[in-house]
Amino acid sequence: MIQHIGIIGAGQMGSGIAHVAALNGFTITLLDVDEAVLSAAIEMIKKNMSRQVRKKMIDQTACDDALARIKTGAGVDDLKDADLVIEAAAEDEEIKKAIFASLKGVIKPDAIICTNTSSISVTRLAASTDRPGLFMGMHFMNPVPMMELVELVRGIATDEETYEQVRKVAVKMGKKTAMAEDFPAFIVNRILLPMINEAIYALYEGVGTVESIDTAMRLGAHHPMGPLQLADFIGLDTCHAIMQVLYEGLADSKYRPCPLLAKYVEAGWLGRKTGRGFYDYSGEEPVPTR
Ligand code: NAD
Repeated sequence: MIQHIGIIGAGQMGSGIAHVAALNGFTITLLDVDEAVLSAAIEMIKKNMSRQVRKKMIDQTACDDALARIKTGAGVDDLKDADLVIEAAAEDEEIKKAIFASLKGVIKPDAIICTNTSSISVTRLAASTDRPGLFMGMHFMNPVPMMELVELVRGIATDEETYEQVRKVAVKMGKKTAMAEDFPAFIVNRILLPMINEAIYALYEGVGTVESIDTAMRLGAHHPMGPLQLADFIGLDTCHAIMQVLYEGLADSKYRPCPLLAKYVEAGWLGRKTGRGFYDYSGEEPVPTR
């Protein structure tokens, strides 16, 4: 039975997964290469859980118990007792493969490994591990505490038992699941990211401003967030990486990442997490930058 979950990468997603898993009874060890990220993640989890207490979504005891179940670790050695390891590091195949290599001979032989990748081939990542049968995609949505779905992605080698165990973990975390086959970007991002990329092309070509594009899609298509606002929320580096995977993986020019998206990433304007993307987040209210 899965009880102890190791989470590698304590950014937006890793911290959100730790939050939800701890609230639903799992013991967590959270890792990151950047110590500042790790302490910021714990602060963020405390802040978000306190908000849930204030809104009476959870009580103080549940919050205190959940926080007590989250430990931070110094390295993969701290994952030797984990039953499941969820990788939520940057969307970069080489980084992910290096992480899986570092787990070899360290974690339990029967521990399951999941990747939270948004787009990279689960089958290819599985092949870089010592346990392709015990490997699959567990794709959480952002922000994890609020979004209902976990997309479960089966690689060609994923065992049925692995799938079933991971599905049960997602359900215990209070999530609904949808099964996706291992194609580039799976289901949600195969459909969502080309729309975001198209919105960036519309901005690039001068069809509209940031404000008019987002207003058009919020009010004209009833989307809760405009596509550029959503891109900033996801992270422009992640959006670019997903488009690149679609472009290369499906070999179709319709997935070409917009050059303006590439330029923003090169500038380090990665969206909310760096304070600037299609909006500037330095003031009280986000201000469109174009
Ligand atoms: P992020 O940039 O907020 O966090 C990534 C973290 O990984 C950083 O804190 C970084 O220090 C850490 N990291 C990098 N290399 C590492 C290593 N070798 N060991 C440990 N930690 C390492 O990114 P994020 O938005 O949390 O995305 C993480 C993963 O989740 C990506 O694969 C992304 O595609 C996926 N994802 C993102 C979203 C989203 O909306 N942002 C949604 C679903 C899935």
